[in-house]
Amino acid sequence: MIIDLHTHSNASDGTDSPSQLIANAIDAGIDILALTDHDTIAGWQEAEAALVSHPKGASLKLVLGSEISCQDRDGTSIHMLGLLFDPNFEPLMQEMEKTRENRLTRMERIVARLNESGIEITMAEVYSQKRDDATLGRPHLADALVARGHIANRDEAFATYLHNGSKFYINHYSPSPIDAIRLIKAAGGVSIIAHPLASRSGRKVEPEIFTELIEAGLDGIEVNHRDNAEDEKSLLLEIARQHNLVVTGSSDYHGTGKMNRLAEFTTSPEEWERLESRARERRVISK
Ligand code: AMP
Ligand code: ZN
Ligand code: FE
Ligand code: FE
Repeated sequence: MIIDLHTHSNASDGTDSPSQLIANAIDAGIDILALTDHDTIAGWQEAEAALVSHPKGASLKLVLGSEISCQDRDGTSIHMLGLLFDPNFEPLMQEMEKTRENRLTRMERIVARLNESGIEITMAEVYSQKRDDATLGRPHLADALVARGHIANRDEAFATYLHNGSKFYINHYSPSPIDAIRLIKAAGGVSIIAHPLASRSGRKVEPEIFTELIEAGLDGIEVNHRDNAEDEKSLLLEIARQHNLVVTGSSDYHGTGKMNRLAEFTTSPEEWERLESRARERRVISK
């Protein structure tokens, strides 16, 4: 059983359309795949339709979700995976919309800062890099910089201009991780903190934060992810065991936008079973 619970499509900053993602997951022999675009469910419909119409669609089960951008009190960026929630639960949908809208003015400000430093790029060029309804993110700006010939690829764009420590970096509005967990749970879903200690990507969550998140209803920890270093994985595993949390693993696939290969890390069937049983309803999609 190959289970990958964290992937992106071009409904956010991945490069595969939801249909291509479904086809690629089937080709990769994946049994259970979660679609988790940043702060949106815009890819859900297309993914479901693609699964149902794919000739080999019966080999794959689809878990619909989102990766919700959050911010801790001290400004640390935290990503919360929400899976199997009710898309008709308005408070959660409104919170995602608020974040998506704030990402637009945030991008204008980043673009203005780049322009002030003599790096010419326009919002129109950034928008042209994304699907109309996609959540806007720094990767689209990276693609625009590449298209202009300012830089070679997304990776270089992040290393040079767009990383969190850069003078061009600006935050966008996002809920606290506690609010995100409460909303996901109120919508009947399950919440998993994504790549929590990810020191490799410049984010680092302090272990103490887990106490609060668990009280708010955290269901799982994404232990097996390329951004977690080995010693961090051991620490996270220990925290998960102590608090009876579900342990997940996933690729965080972004198509050609990142090196991450589909199913490069996976979740065990036992852990998936535990996770799914914590959702209010069985919402997994199958052909
Ligand atoms: P944003 O959501 O606009 O703050 O942009 C953050 C997103 O950029 C993350 O979710 C990653 O998917 C992506 N990202 C971060 N670092 C890199 C990188 N080095 N190369 C490509 N994508 C990246
Ligand atoms: Zn992303
Ligand atoms: Fe993330
Ligand atoms: Fe992600």
